[in-house]
Amino acid sequence: MHLERRVLVTGGAGFLGSHLCEKLLERGVQVLCVDNFFTGARRNIEHLLSHKHFELLRHDVTHPLFVEVDEIYNLACPASPFHYQRDPVQTTKTNVIGAIHMLGLAKRVKAKILQASTSEIYGDPSVHPQNEGYWGNVNPIGLRSCYDEGKRCAETLFFDYRRQHNLQIKVARIFNTYGPRTHPNDGRVVSSFIVQALLNRDLTVFGAGEQTRSFCYVDDLVDGFLRLMDTPSDVTGPINLGNPGEFTIAELAREIIALTGSRSKIICGPLPPDDPKQRQPDISKASEILRWAPKIPLQEGLRRTIPYFERLLAYGVISAAISV
Ligand code: NAD
Ligand code: UDP
Repeated sequence: MHLERRVLVTGGAGFLGSHLCEKLLERGVQVLCVDNFFTGARRNIEHLLSHKHFELLRHDVTHPLFVEVDEIYNLACPASPFHYQRDPVQTTKTNVIGAIHMLGLAKRVKAKILQASTSEIYGDPSVHPQNEGYWGNVNPIGLRSCYDEGKRCAETLFFDYRRQHNLQIKVARIFNTYGPRTHPNDGRVVSSFIVQALLNRDLTVFGAGEQTRSFCYVDDLVDGFLRLMDTPSDVTGPINLGNPGEFTIAELAREIIALTGSRSKIICGPLPPDDPKQRQPDISKASEILRWAPKIPLQEGLRRTIPYFERLLAYGVISAAISV
């Protein structure tokens, strides 16, 4: 890539977006980070602000955006159920209107555009592991629907823009990803358990903890994004990106207690509505088309993530008084 290439990252001040901006700058491209700071944080990108090829724009993607770019990574959208259910109407707007605006922008400037879609497309799946051919089992009117159906509609828009306007699109279906810069109080399971363990508080397992998830470390995921964007124009996806290593939530809790040396105990609470029972990506497509597979196993990824939350606690960014 050459210096004159300009890459837009929406949601660039969030967890995944900030890591992506960093990797793009390492590649020598110009990065325009757009974020409304709903769940993103300035501290995630503070170290990039003085970089001469980095630009930050506070903007909400539910409003039109007129910039000149060559590539767009559309990540804007809160990912944690706690945050996306706080303002569900805004979540649908971000997913649907945001996608329309970014696709419109891509059409005007002839940019390639990548959508950060999600394993939630599969809902509570009846196929295991989930491959891209599975159409999903999604409740259209539940608490998670603003996110699940919003992301499904965004995928529809991406493929219609492709069919109707011949846009170069790439759709990545991301499975649970974790790592440093996850919002410390967003209720996602890895960050919640680590913070609870570091504070020696009970780890709040929802349900009996028998539901499964597959956790991908952020560096692996971002590598998958970059590979997907670099594919020829006939590669559109959707392509699953995630780590096939599958763990129950109870196993995750025990691992985090062991790695932090915590005195915390595990307590069980009610399972949230529509909580998927199992989730594991079939990544054969990513492996074949992108030559991609995650390299960082869960234990190693957790070892890299725990110090980040220790620092947030030490600097008072997470107050010991918060309820996690
Ligand atoms: P995040 O909440 O840390 O980041 C989302 C970013 O988007 C935040 O910086 C937020 O402020 C910004 N944002 C939200 N609404 C916006 C709007 N209307 N306009 C502009 N900016 C807006 O979440 P993340 O984990 O970094 O997720 C990034 C993307 O990846 C999301 O689209 C999410 O749906 C998708 N995804 C993430 C995961 C995961 O496990 N992390 C899994 C599946 C999909
Ligand atoms: N979970 C839990 N305790 C928590 C937070 C989450 O047991 O404090 C469970 C949640 O019910 C779900 C899993 O962990 O089964 C993953 O939840 P998360 O919100 O991280 O992601 P998602 O449900 O979107 O996969």
